[in-house]
Amino acid sequence: MRKNSPEILLINPWIHDFAAYDFWAKPVGLLSLASILRQHGLNVSYMDCLDRFHPNMPKTDPHARNGRGPYLKTRAPRPEGLQDIDRKFSRYGIKKRWFMEDLRTIPRPDLVLVTSLMTYWYPGVKETIKIIKKIFPNTPLILGGIYATLFYSHALQHSEADIVIKGEGIKEILELTEKLTGFTPVNKKGCPKFSADSLDTYPYPAFDLQHLINYIPLITSKGCPFACSYCASNFLNPGFKQRSPESVIQEIEYWYKKYKVKEFVFYDDALLVDSANHAVPILEGILKKGYNICFHTPNALHIREITETNAALMFKAGFKTLRLGLETTLFEDRSSMDHKVTEYDFKKAVTCLKSAGFKKNHAGAYLLAGLPGQTIDSVKDSIRTVKQTGITPIIAYYTPIPHTKMWPMALASSRYNLESDPIFTNNAILPCRRDPFSWETISSFKKLIL
Ligand code: SF4
Repeated sequence: MRKNSPEILLINPWIHDFAAYDFWAKPVGLLSLASILRQHGLNVSYMDCLDRFHPNMPKTDPHARNGRGPYLKTRAPRPEGLQDIDRKFSRYGIKKRWFMEDLRTIPRPDLVLVTSLMTYWYPGVKETIKIIKKIFPNTPLILGGIYATLFYSHALQHSEADIVIKGEGIKEILELTEKLTGFTPVNKKGCPKFSADSLDTYPYPAFDLQHLINYIPLITSKGCPFACSYCASNFLNPGFKQRSPESVIQEIEYWYKKYKVKEFVFYDDALLVDSANHAVPILEGILKKGYNICFHTPNALHIREITETNAALMFKAGFKTLRLGLETTLFEDRSSMDHKVTEYDFKKAVTCLKSAGFKKNHAGAYLLAGLPGQTIDSVKDSIRTVKQTGITPIIAYYTPIPHTKMWPMALASSRYNLESDPIFTNNAILPCRRDPFSWETISSFKKLIL
């Protein structure tokens, strides 16, 4: 049995896409694994190919220091099969040279963990893995994350990882690490005993491994009780679990006091579910502390869960960016998509938010565009209806996702063979429209929103 602590290297890979912008995106799952491993006696290091604060990065304008901002980009050839798309293609993230230099400055790791996000970003994952393998050819490498889970067979065949795992990896990581390094992980003395089944026992994600902590993503629950036909939440996080309000308040306090963090971003799929016992006590607890902090919810809130009480608390607690999961205003005709909101729910929610003090620059409703069989006019109608309520319509282009109820419809309606290559599921190319990609469609939506 091995006695000295193994070195584990965790890596967030590049994005290859037509466009990418950092909207409070952090690999929380990967950084949670880092903190679990650290709590069990392993040495961890972290490299983020998307790091906007890499030491070699030019010190650009001050806005680039905020939670949101542009990634550095390097032009890349358009992937095979997408030559018909009249858009430039790039690798987003740090320069290849910097990544290779960084890898060469660390001790040889005993194990490398790479995460993955959007399915169609896999060429970025592949390129990242190729470079790691070149520098550390004998180190085992595990790939996990969303692409690996949703397109498991593709990832096995194409990623060049030694092991591909489905799901978050929280349950498997300690056992796998022991198997691959020969070191038996032991929960550190003084730390609460970690259990993969209890969210309250998870150590806080290792954001301290980043070059800068400019905001903290918070996960107060996992999964979603709804089952919308276009969404993979149920597949990626089966079941629905919530942390205790006390543990969320303690985490906010920890980052605020120790790292002076003032911006927090909820990553939950279902923050407001059972809000009387979850979001309300969290927000009341935060308000009692009197901290000068603010919150954002880039993941949509459930419209039907918005009440006068929680809207008022969100406003008082400093919610600055609020997004609602509306998807369409064709309320009579949405049963094949979801059952999560009626016209009455939407109007009531907007009234609650406006009475609480939210203005249209804070509150926006996501509308899906590019669904199988959807007409351009129906999206335009939805934009107009949302504008009339006084909040902002925000277009979210539909991504076809395997293991969802809508996947068979997506396959049938697409002009591409979606199953053959995840590259064709890129929402930027409107893959489920029969007609070829055109800028006109996109700009007609943009014009209407202005
Ligand atoms: S779209 Fe939202 S409400 Fe529907 S299943 Fe996904 S996370 Fe839940």
